[in-house]
Amino acid sequence: MASHITILGGGPAALSIGYYARKQSLPFTIYEAKAGTGGNSVTLRHGDFLFDSGAHRFHDKNPEITREIQLLMGSGLKRITIPSKIYDNGVFIKFPLSSMDLLRNMGPFVFARAAIEVLRARLTGRNGEGNFKDFALHAYGNIIAGRFLLNYSEKLWGMPCNRLSPGIAGKRLEGLDLKSFVMDSLLGSRFRVEHMEGSFFYPEGGIGAISRQLSDVCTKENIRTNARITKVLHDNSRICAVEVNETERIVTDEVVSTLPIDFFLDIMEPKPPEDVILASRGLHYRNVILVALFLDRESVTDAATVYFPDSDIPFTRIYEPRNRDGTMSPRGKTSLVAEIPCQREDDVWNMGDDMLVRLVRTKLVDDIGWIRENEITGTSVNRLDHAYPILEMGFEEKLREINDYLRRFHNLKLSGRNGRFIYSWIHNMMVLGRDIVREYDARKPVRGSGE
Ligand SMILES: Cc1cc2nc3c(=O)[nH]c(=O)nc-3n(C[C@H](O)[C@H](O)[C@H](O)COP(=O)(O)OP(=O)(O)OC[C@H]3O[C@@H](n4cnc5c(N)ncnc54)[C@H](O)[C@@H]3O)c2cc1C
Repeated sequence: MASHITILGGGPAALSIGYYARKQSLPFTIYEAKAGTGGNSVTLRHGDFLFDSGAHRFHDKNPEITREIQLLMGSGLKRITIPSKIYDNGVFIKFPLSSMDLLRNMGPFVFARAAIEVLRARLTGRNGEGNFKDFALHAYGNIIAGRFLLNYSEKLWGMPCNRLSPGIAGKRLEGLDLKSFVMDSLLGSRFRVEHMEGSFFYPEGGIGAISRQLSDVCTKENIRTNARITKVLHDNSRICAVEVNETERIVTDEVVSTLPIDFFLDIMEPKPPEDVILASRGLHYRNVILVALFLDRESVTDAATVYFPDSDIPFTRIYEPRNRDGTMSPRGKTSLVAEIPCQREDDVWNMGDDMLVRLVRTKLVDDIGWIRENEITGTSVNRLDHAYPILEMGFEEKLREINDYLRRFHNLKLSGRNGRFIYSWIHNMMVLGRDIVREYDARKPVRGSGE
């Protein structure tokens, strides 16, 4: 008999493992603390309005995984081509940045200075391998980095850019690539829209449809919801059991944890060595508050996402769900969802819902003027815990120390954005899930081998 896989957590990372395990007929159980699966990749409902847990899109980055998701979703997965925008000092700038658009918005003098700065930064050989600030200045020069990158990143991550690792750039900087500037100038906007952030896949009815389909393949029998893992019991070389809801003990064969890595270490029994715990205390996560406004109005923006680098604006970005899929709002109506990143300790995380709505409403109605007060027919506030791992300078050493310790547990694997502490996306979760299951499958006893 193949070993049973105990999967901790029920977000996209856990569901991907279950999905591939099911395809290989490997036995598994997913333990999810909440009442439903999907983690931070779900679609929420407010009356007839739908909106995602943060502005999601399925990135077409890995042809094999895209094919897998296309098979899973069938005709329910659409390719969407809609670029994003930056809202800067009252004007919209296309994102990915286009040289023509920048020229129009900055004027020829500032644009020329910015272009010279980019070239000089590249040619002077100042290396951008230190912190994120060095990296951004090296790659884009003061004008572009200062205006579009550094203040936005400080707002998103909640700390000065010289304390952040260049790894936080993730995919976001593809649109700010020098190469893309050149390609854009030579090939025009067709290249930009088709090959970069403007084009992505999106499921009908919201991103949560992917998590739901993955859960369906996993089947109800293999998923336990309302099952919070409260202890991980080990003998220093293997994980022997997990405790569920402080009451039930489940003996384990193979274990994959997608729980935030510091939490996993915290609930281990016996406790890990002090220096490992100390290293885990040095890893931090960013939370996100979603403030949704439901509107009696057909449309507000024509962008997938609008980014707000201005530090006086409390949200980093806003998306209009119906621009991704028309079924996200009732006919003739729309909604806007603002993302406010913060730390658990920040005042804003603990602010009442009414105050948060007022914060966003005031900006959008009075200051930015996108909507009128009487168009708002409803509001909703949702808090996303552990939305992003914060890749601070020096996080790699802490992670190495933790992983060195965890490697001794030969029946334990880690997956997931917070489980591995990697800035990653749904398609990455699928790759991790596929590879983990491949390893288990290779160990599966062959029929008739006598095992
Ligand atoms: C704002 C935002 C925007 C994003 N945009 C995109 C995008 O455009 N494209 C994309 O591909 N990806 C995007 N992502 C990332 C995508 O949602 C993640 O890949 C995904 O949520 C991470 O999956 P995960 O399973 O690792 O973690 P999570 O989704 O965080 O799931 C972890 C699960 O573990 C459960 N859990 C926690 N503690 C316990 C416990 N003690 N016992 C049992 N269960 C527990 C949680 O309830 C949760 O369900 C975005 C994420 C956010 C937050």
